[in-house]
Amino acid sequence: MLCVYCRQQPVDPRWQPFCSERCQWLDLSHWLDGDYRVEGPADDTPPDMDPDDPEATDL
Ligand SMILES: [Zn+2]
Repeated sequence: MLCVYCRQQPVDPRWQPFCSERCQWLDLSHWLDGDYRVEGPADDTPPDMDPDDPEATDL
């Protein structure tokens, strides 16, 4: 059984389902990062804000 994060190292019983504390933290930080960061650098299209949509102008 391989680490669910790196999928290269065997799972360590102490850190399962990860191979190490490092992978456990990396996975956790990655999860939290995706949860808290709403807008990413690659995403420049804001949702529900289309200037060409008359129904979107709610002013
Ligand atoms: Zn790993």
